Amino acid sequence: DVVTRFAPSPTGFLHIGGARTALFNWLYARGNGGRFLLRIEDTDRARSTPEATDAILQGLSWLGLDHDGDIVSQFENAPRHAEVARDLLDAGKAYKCFATQEEITAFREAAKAEGRSTLYQSPWRDADPSTHPDAPYVIRIKAPQDGETVIRDRVQGDVTISNAQLDDMVLLRSDGTPVYMLAVVVDDHDMGVTHVIRGDDHLNNAARQMMIYEAMGWNVPVWAHIPLIHGPDGKKLSKRHGALGAQEYQAMGYPAAGMRNYLARLGWSHGDDEFFTDAQAREWFDLDGIRKSPAQFDLKKLENICGQHIAVAEDAALRQECEGYLAAAHLPALDDAQAAGLERAMYCLKERAKTLPELLEKAHFVLTSRPVAADEKALGALSPDACGLLAELTPHLQDASWNKETLEEVMNGFAAAHDTKFGKLAGPLRAALAGRTVTPSVFDMMLVLGRDETIARLTDAAA
Ligand code: GLU
Repeated sequence: DVVTRFAPSPTGFLHIGGARTALFNWLYARGNGGRFLLRIEDTDRARSTPEATDAILQGLSWLGLDHDGDIVSQFENAPRHAEVARDLLDAGKAYKCFATQEEITAFREAAKAEGRSTLYQSPWRDADPSTHPDAPYVIRIKAPQDGETVIRDRVQGDVTISNAQLDDMVLLRSDGTPVYMLAVVVDDHDMGVTHVIRGDDHLNNAARQMMIYEAMGWNVPVWAHIPLIHGPDGKKLSKRHGALGAQEYQAMGYPAAGMRNYLARLGWSHGDDEFFTDAQAREWFDLDGIRKSPAQFDLKKLENICGQHIAVAEDAALRQECEGYLAAAHLPALDDAQAAGLERAMYCLKERAKTLPELLEKAHFVLTSRPVAADEKALGALSPDACGLLAELTPHLQDASWNKETLEEVMNGFAAAHDTKFGKLAGPLRAALAGRTVTPSVFDMMLVLGRDETIARLTDAAA
């Protein structure tokens, strides 16, 4: 059974690269009937904060990346990590090293001067335990001294590292705390993780982590080290290019489904498919489709995909998403009437809006209430002549059946009778109904507002 995990360090918000790593793990687990676990790597006590953990959880929750089981705290597992170091010691796969920092520095300097490898070689590796002093020690793993280590990576291919490059790394510090490398391996093993999908900045760690798996006789997980995300210029992703927290994207008004779709495409592909649903992503996602070259972040593509998701989203879900956006952007919340109006209007808003603020801008007519304040352009459309026409039109709407065909007939008939075209009426109507010049179609606004409100707004404008 597939078990994946996302293992963020809670030292900052959930950045876009982390969100993509989480998404890949989530998709892989969900698509294979597996489990997706969450581990907070909070062993760096100085840099880990509860606020960062909250921000990461909120980012994941916004993206809909639900995890299975309890959240694991790596720090809380420290006793278990230490136990494994002691197991390795007992099994003769690790040893106590009493070297002082001065001795290690002296070793390195001498090695450097003589042009040898500066990887520390402890004299305690093969020392007789009866010669051990009563002094502080670290526990070091006995690294393989010859041959090579092959990381069979599903993205990078076979990555071969000469064991001469591996040193007897410390597992347990002299104060009894485990090192990060040990913690990751023990946690992944204990959590039953079968697939480790993470940034390729961890590829070098994999070789060292393999030593621990092998020393413990544990199954090595499937590795998939994914290339980092670059900016459109091919350089490392900077803030300017979108290296923002996941929630900043929520605050900018990108819908979560669009964000998921876009992030899934960032370094992974399924043929030429750009737009897909969550269900398709779960079904299609595989490790073979992950590209080996860095992905480039492209805000235009993100907007494009988001627009397509807005267009097909369900009205109620989209209304909810708008409310989430307003909260994330620290904008005033909708009252009940506005929320209901927004949902009723959704059918005519979701075409062509690329972001939620764009959609809400088009929704202005249903969110505002009488008296409708017209912006400058709309005021321009409300000339005395135009207002006169609106006043004359109003009685014709009094008894008309309130559906699109009838309203079109009434309007076209009215325009013809006044020697004009409906197009000429549209500007003043938009201005009167919405106080704006860019709005959904006049008919859609009338249908959403209903007869009474429509007539009241026209009457207000004509007065
Ligand atoms: N905590 C590490 C990070 O935030 C991830 C470690 C891992 O996935 O093995 O980059």
